[in-house]
Formats: sequence, structure tokens, C-alpha cells
Amino acid sequence: MQTEVIAITSKDDEELKRAGAVIRAGGLVAFPTETVYGLGGNALDADASRRIYAAKGRPSDNPLIVHISDFSQVYMLAEDVPETARKLADAFWPGPLTMILPKSELVPETTTGGLQTVALRMPNHPAALGLIEQAGVPIAAPSANRSGRPSPTTAAHVFEDMNGKIPIILDGGEVEIGVESTIVDLTGEKPMVLRPGYISRKMLQEVLETEVELDPAIVVKTVKACEPETKVTNEAAETKGPNGAAETKNLNGEPDPQKPSGAAATKEPEAEAQHLRPRAPGMRYRHYAPKAPLILVQGPAEAVTAYILKQIEEEKNKPIGVLCSAQTAHVYKDARRVVVAGAFGDLPALAHNLYADLRDFDEVDIDRIYAEDFGIAEDANLKEALENRMMKAAGGHIVTVG
Ligand code: AMP
Ligand code: MG
Repeated sequence: MQTEVIAITSKDDEELKRAGAVIRAGGLVAFPTETVYGLGGNALDADASRRIYAAKGRPSDNPLIVHISDFSQVYMLAEDVPETARKLADAFWPGPLTMILPKSELVPETTTGGLQTVALRMPNHPAALGLIEQAGVPIAAPSANRSGRPSPTTAAHVFEDMNGKIPIILDGGEVEIGVESTIVDLTGEKPMVLRPGYISRKMLQEVLETEVELDPAIVVKTVKACEPETKVTNEAAETKGPNGAAETKNLNGEPDPQKPSGAAATKEPEAEAQHLRPRAPGMRYRHYAPKAPLILVQGPAEAVTAYILKQIEEEKNKPIGVLCSAQTAHVYKDARRVVVAGAFGDLPALAHNLYADLRDFDEVDIDRIYAEDFGIAEDANLKEALENRMMKAAGGHIVTVG
């Protein structure tokens, strides 16, 4: 199949008619949103959803988010529409927020991965809204990457992963936010965030005037490592900082083929004992991992830099990659690849660049990547989202120094 890349400049672009007709006929179209690029098909057509799972190589029990262009479509797709959904839509739609509601009979179980709930979002991008309107049906769309690759933030990334598999990629340039939408589950007693994103729990709480929980299964746990020496290999992350005091962190309940073996793996009893399963099926899968193992280094900025430099120095014969801030980039002269994610503490820049940066590392032959933690501050609204994505990229390989 020939894949056409079509630049879209406005919601009224004539080309959106043609793309909408492809969706109506059961075909797939990749399109930009403000978060990442999506791979869209008719959400009401089980065969279209099957084509999406196949093109992505995605397990069919990992449900798709259904994208709409008008709030009235919520009543068609959801069985119950609580007041909370209306309030959140008023505040944040169109925007980077996905709501989980009980599904109506109209939505095939293939689209919802067998669940009786449906994920709904109204994206804030003219090409996305124009495409949904032209298609005349709600559009099921996961991120437009091959399963396990970083989500695409440019049409070129989509082309890398989907060339020959889909007829059309709509090109709206670089996306604005760069990490996927916040998913909030409104089917339980209390609203619960299943995937953190740009819309923080604090923002949701302010609108709902009630507590919003974070799925306990994705809360990052810190566990002290007591093994004094562990060498970093492709399979194992070092657990000891320069001063001998180090910690490891891991995500609960996530199958992780790259999980550190040795000391780090044996120092996570709390996390493993709880057997928590993330409620968003997609959060159970390993995601966003670059080809080379990535080790996230946390702690005061100077200690982080010193630690990474020491690793480069000690492993001179091995090609090392570093993901760092603009302020520190110049010190890593002996690294094979240095990728600047933005100014230190600039979380929107880090979010915006992260997936492109991870793809960048895949272009070179490197042994491993050290990532600075960027001072992901307590109160920043992208904090939980970035912590979560960095943890996923690191597959739980964390070193805490200083
Ligand atoms: P992506 O499309 O790549 O952004 O991934 C969509 C995410 O939404 C995945 O983590 C899914 O598991 C999650 N999701 C979609 N529908 C539901 C649902 N009904 N309940 C819980 N999580 C969902
Ligand atoms: Mg995805």
C-alpha cells in the first residue's frame, strides 16, 4: 500500500473530505492531535478497530480511545453521563483529557478491548476536529506508533512506523504537548486518574471540587537498595550512588522484560508483594523504551552530572548516550550521543521533546543511555506525567544519587 502524507493547514482543508471518506469506508488515517499523532478508524466498526490493532501490532485487549468533535456524541457512545463528565468537558474539552464512562451498545467490544466501558476524548487540533466532522463518525485512535515504540510527535515519526500499512497520514507539523492525554475514570465512586498527562489531578480537583485519586498501581514506589556494589550491565541497573547511598524505584504490576536482575531486582519486595494491576490495560505493557537500556539518574543536579560523568569515564570503551538539559550538555564530551531535552526544569519542553529524543537514540549504536531527571518539581502540572513516562522509558532502571 502506498502511504500518502498530506499537509493540513486548517479545519476546512479540502483534503479532510477525502480522508474522512477513507474512515467512513473502514480505512485508517493517521492524524495530528495536540498530544501525539493518532491512528484513526471508525470507532463503530469492529473491522476498522481490528485493522488498527493489526497495523500497530497492538494486543487486542488494549482498548482504543474514541475521539469526538461535539459533546452530543457522548450521549450516543456512553450509557450514563454523570454531571462530572459535563463539568470536565466544559473545563477541558477540546483538550488533552480522556474520560472513561460505561459504554453504550453502539460501541463494539473490539473497540473497547472487551471492556464494558469506553474512553472518550475531544482533541484540540483543527486537523483532528475537521477529520472527525468529515468522517461523520467517532474515530477510535491510539497513538500512531508501532506497539512498544515511542508515541509519534511528527508526521515523519508516523511514516517511520506506518509506511505501507495505511493509506493516509495527515501532517499538521510538530504536536504541541508531546505526551498522551490524561485518562480519568469516572465509573467508580471517586474519579481516578489511570494515566497522568498534561491535565493534572490538581486541575481536575479544582473543577470537580472533590478528591481525584491516582491509580495505586502506577504510583512510583521507592525502595532502598542495600546491596553495596552492583555493576550496570544491559540487564541490570546499578543501585549504588557515588557516596554509597542509593535507591531503586520501580512501577508496580507492570510486566517488564528489561527488569533489572541481581541486587536491584531483589530489592523491590513492597512493590511486588502488592500485585497491583493498572486499571488502564495499556499501562500494564512496557512502552516507550529506546533500543539501548535507559537509566534515569535522580538527585541534586550536581550529583546527577557527577554520577553520569563517572560512568562515562569508567566505561570509556563503551558508547554511552546522555539525555540532559541545555545547561549540562557541554560537560558530557566523551559521550557518543548527547541529546538536549530542553532547559533545566522546563517540563513542557521535556514533554514536547521526549519521544523524539528517544527515537533519536535509536539512530545510533550505543550501549546504554543515562537520563538526567530534570528537577521534576513537586508542584509542576506535568510532574506525574513525566515521572510516569520517564519510568516507562527506563523500564524501572533508576539510580538515586546525592
Ligand atoms: P493510546 O491510544 O496509545 O494513547 O492508549 C490508550 C490508553 O487508554 C491505553 O492505556 C488503554 O488501555 C486506555 N484505555 C482505553 N479505553 C479504556 C477503558 N475503557 N478503560 C481503561 N483504560 C482504557
Ligand atoms: Mg500509545
